Amino acid sequence: QQQQQIHPGMPNGSNGAGSHYQSQPAVWPPPAQPAQHQTQPLRPPMPPPPPSAPSPPSGAPYGPPRPPMPPQQQPRPPMPPPPGPYQPQSQPQQQRPPMPPQPQAPPTLRPPGPPQPPAPMPPSGIPPTARLDGSLRSSQDGSTQRHVNLLQDRQLLSPTEGIEVLKPSVKHYPGDANCDPEVMCCTLNVIPSTSSLLQKARLPLGLLLHPFKDLRNLPVIQASVIVRCRSCRTYINPFVQLIDQRRWRCNVCYRTNDLPDEFQYDPVSKVYGEPSRRPEVRSATVEFIAPQEYTVRPPPPATYVMLFDVSLGAAYLSTVCQVLLRSLDRLPGDARTQLAIMTFNGFLHLYQLDGPRPRMLVLPDLDEAAPPLHDGLLVTVSECRDAIAELLETLPIQEFPEAPGSCLGTALQMAYKLAQSYGGRVTAFVASLPSLGPGALQNRDDPSTRAGKPSSGILQPGTDFYKRLALDCCGVQLGIDLFCLAPQPVDLPSLLPASLFSSGDFFHYPDMAERPDEERARLATDFNRYVTRKIGFEAVMRLRCTKGISISAFHGSCFVRSTDLLSLPTVNPDAGFGIQLALEDSLADVQLAVCQAALLYTSAKGERRIRVHTLAVPVTSRLEDVFRGADQRAVAGLLALMATDRTIGSSLTDAREALVNAAVDLITAYGNCALSSGQRIGSLCVPYHLRLLPALVLALMKCTAFRLGVSTRLDERAGALAAMKLTPLRFLLMRAYPDLYALHPSAWPPPPPQQQQQQQQEDQKQNNQSVSDDEIDEPPRLHLSAQFLERGGLYLLDAGRELLLFVFSGMPQAVYQQLFAVDSFQQIRDGQLGLPELDNPLSERVRGFVECLQSDRPFGAPLTLLREDGRQRGRFTRYLVEDRSEGGASQSYQEFLQTLQKM
Ligand SMILES: [Zn+2]
Repeated sequence: QQQQQIHPGMPNGSNGAGSHYQSQPAVWPPPAQPAQHQTQPLRPPMPPPPPSAPSPPSGAPYGPPRPPMPPQQQPRPPMPPPPGPYQPQSQPQQQRPPMPPQPQAPPTLRPPGPPQPPAPMPPSGIPPTARLDGSLRSSQDGSTQRHVNLLQDRQLLSPTEGIEVLKPSVKHYPGDANCDPEVMCCTLNVIPSTSSLLQKARLPLGLLLHPFKDLRNLPVIQASVIVRCRSCRTYINPFVQLIDQRRWRCNVCYRTNDLPDEFQYDPVSKVYGEPSRRPEVRSATVEFIAPQEYTVRPPPPATYVMLFDVSLGAAYLSTVCQVLLRSLDRLPGDARTQLAIMTFNGFLHLYQLDGPRPRMLVLPDLDEAAPPLHDGLLVTVSECRDAIAELLETLPIQEFPEAPGSCLGTALQMAYKLAQSYGGRVTAFVASLPSLGPGALQNRDDPSTRAGKPSSGILQPGTDFYKRLALDCCGVQLGIDLFCLAPQPVDLPSLLPASLFSSGDFFHYPDMAERPDEERARLATDFNRYVTRKIGFEAVMRLRCTKGISISAFHGSCFVRSTDLLSLPTVNPDAGFGIQLALEDSLADVQLAVCQAALLYTSAKGERRIRVHTLAVPVTSRLEDVFRGADQRAVAGLLALMATDRTIGSSLTDAREALVNAAVDLITAYGNCALSSGQRIGSLCVPYHLRLLPALVLALMKCTAFRLGVSTRLDERAGALAAMKLTPLRFLLMRAYPDLYALHPSAWPPPPPQQQQQQQQEDQKQNNQSVSDDEIDEPPRLHLSAQFLERGGLYLLDAGRELLLFVFSGMPQAVYQQLFAVDSFQQIRDGQLGLPELDNPLSERVRGFVECLQSDRPFGAPLTLLREDGRQRGRFTRYLVEDRSEGGASQSYQEFLQTLQKM
């Protein structure tokens, strides 16, 4: 692996605060996904659909027209007229050699019933290995349509890969590296050249972003000059045209710019005179260490304020304090890092930490007017470590002054006062309804209406206190993160704006009353990563797109400062964003459109850095190409974000209708584009890469955020809606459409030992490195329907935040013994957490796989055992989204298809 580090001593662009997530060396899930390309140039890219020749403005194809972009629109800098069509260095796709012949395995439709795991996937007419190549070939001859008839093809999910991850094809550009789709992806991997074409496709255009994701190889560049377009300030990137050794043409505004002398030297290869070798033009993601001009003020110390709710006792405090104590020396920052700790019930308790021992001050007066500010409340960790450690050790057993209620609002205001000159991060634990002082709330959750439509306005805040506070915090570069652990309602719709407008994060433990052990296990993992994960302060993120493409809406936890600029007082590596785009001018002369996200932040060590991601997407004037290039994951993700806004801003009914309409529109638009009227009769055809979209739409309508007919607490729904906004695409999809695996030995046979050894040796030779978790063979994936489950089977469902092991009776006794250390199915405890560590191959294999899944995400996902006849089986069956729900409140996938057909 090539050493990409350019600036010595900057390990991985991280602040050095390791976390289990970041340090996971495994590439997992294994190579099937092209997710890590930009960091692994050795792996050949998957060839997605090509562009073709490229024409005016746009509409959002999501139900009724959306209101235009909010206020504060600032005009972009004036753009010079484009100097003619943009010519890439070579004529890419048309000249690409024909694809090698695909092995023509005849499509074999799997009969309904128990699945035959390692079987290849056989959608209509597409040989198992064709996948992405299929669409490529078809667009070259321009005649064959690659689609799937949903009424015939039932096996749409690849048993080995799940839902494929796509990447736009830009093969002939330097480095051959488009942006990692897990970092930034577009709903359409081939963008229509005009808005009328986009309207014909009836697909949403937008980006899903995970801009501060932990990356294993991030080129970090320290240069005295950062090369940017003089006109639109776009950063030089792999998709610009290098006219000659001294000039480059911007791919956003088309201005010709000069290259500085410094750019002639490549620090990696130490070669002069070849600007195309610079990392900025070889990698779609780079990070710059910014020179002085990017700095507004001297970087303040990393500042953290912790607020612990002790109104309901403090069972969670021992977990949290232990984690914090263990991590004190790993808090992102340097010798100047500051910390303040407060607790609150009906009173606010402050702690002076500048003495040898902590000293508690009680603030009984909750009037916001003038809480006194004492010295020693916000202290330098390295100087006051002993007092902090003692406080963390004693807090869990502390007797707090008796005062019923919770004064969260006062605590947050105090945090603001303490930290306002530094900015930083406030972490607030919420255990009960804030009932006292400023920001006091009332429980608005009416149990009698939980199964029906949420009443009008109930998902909107009952007070603007928390939003105002968040905007104040934003103004002083302070972000508020919330951990909600309350077993009772806390009116989350009112509280959440504290986080969502200050770029904060939100962690929810909605089942604290029913399943406290499981929620605490989750909390421990979450908090462990939370306190040590990387953090960026004083951040802004700007999105620039090729002239003609405009931004119509942002989704995520942020403050939208202007049309293309987000204000992020803190940015964390687990935050996702969504951006809706529109076409306001023709892209007819453009072959490759680019979107560039630039995140400017101050690292915990006080360095100003800019992380730049550039995604290039071919442009087409052909509707078929638009359909071929559409990415069902990204489309579903953007639809979910749009539905979230609709649910909060308008109504759940509207949002659900809009989701269904999106599926109907797809089928109609594709039918008009690609099918004769005869072909349309009795079929339901969709483009191959959108074949799972109707299932994903159905799954979204059944998830906690958008479901109807299932009792849903107000906080549960509000929390789920917030999670939609915050979660990167991959995990967002997992919550709605989880991964289901068959683990029983007959479905997931262990590889023969010989073969395993050979494979290992081959891999070692090829990679010249040790074999890691890549080796873990995955069990087959199944569609989310009971018809694929066998009696006597063992199934693992991965819904992101929870892993459910569903156990049937009727397995061989040995399996129960080897996995659960019991003699029979009857002895398994429903709801048990985790598997016993037993010394046998089956147990090791299953636990290994579960651990592999758990370590592949930045949050806690405890494993829970569920018996097929157990009281909690509904936790598993609710995710079988392709079946009618138990009780019949929702449609099955087949019924849903019939609905779509009738509409
Ligand atoms: Zn420019």
